[in-house]
Amino acid sequence: MWQRISPRQLLVASIVAAVVTIALKTLAWYVTGSVGLLSDALESFVNLAAAIFALAMVTIAQRPADDDHPYGHTKAEYFSSGFEGVLILGAALAIGWTAVERLLAPQPLEAPGLGLALSVASTVVNGGLAVLMQRAARAHHAAGVAGAEAVEADARHLMTDVYTTVGVVVGVAAVYFTGWLWLDPLIALAVAANIVREGLHLMRRASDGLMDHALDPQLQQEIERVLAQFTDPHRPGLLRFDHINTRRSGQRRFVDLHMHMPAAWSLRRAAALRTSVEQALMSAVPGLRATIQLLPSDVEAHFDDEKDIK
Ligand SMILES: [Zn+2]
Repeated sequence: MWQRISPRQLLVASIVAAVVTIALKTLAWYVTGSVGLLSDALESFVNLAAAIFALAMVTIAQRPADDDHPYGHTKAEYFSSGFEGVLILGAALAIGWTAVERLLAPQPLEAPGLGLALSVASTVVNGGLAVLMQRAARAHHAAGVAGAEAVEADARHLMTDVYTTVGVVVGVAAVYFTGWLWLDPLIALAVAANIVREGLHLMRRASDGLMDHALDPQLQQEIERVLAQFTDPHRPGLLRFDHINTRRSGQRRFVDLHMHMPAAWSLRRAAALRTSVEQALMSAVPGLRATIQLLPSDVEAHFDDEKDIK
């Protein structure tokens, strides 16, 4: 029965659950005045962000290339992860500020029983959905459905949130039983530190993608190994590859390079060789799109000069 729930539906459910969780946890903070519970509520925004991000990945990013976007839509995911990273860091900053204020001026908690009950209720929602999503993701994986990874990652995120909430609930209950008011802001600071970590991770992901990060070193080595098969070390003037640049865009990979050959070769011969090189590259590195510029041995394309880039 798990196969009947599509990755998209699961991620929409995850977004709804995140909104419900945020509402319950905010209410828990409102009735108790605990900054620990407030930090837990704000951390649920991380879940909301993660679920929206995953939904963007299985919808926009997987759309095929069209006339306006001939290179596909794979970079769409970086917008959301960058934006979410900024939001999340803002939330962490707000928690940190409130927690430090509370450390300097401790306040007793009100209605802790009701607050903790609301928190536990939100955790039951999250935990239940996480288990369901994990099972569905496994079924989708086995069936080879696209988007299974996104669902799996989101379920993992939800589970992490469950553990955080359990920690916060135990901490706030301890504040109630011991009367150690300083413990509440301390819990909030610990949660804030975790949120900062998540936010920085999202922003690094976004900047790597938007800044056209090169392919992993082992893939670059693989490309050079393939190109080396076409050159003859004893006759270096015959065929030469240079200006090799790689970049990653979401799930896709790109390489562009120069292929220098004797000027006397016919265009037919040059084009046939280029096709062989392209095919060898694409079969060695899955998902790679190669752009190869043909040039005579003694001519260099000048737009790659450093002075032109400036
Ligand atoms: Zn060149």
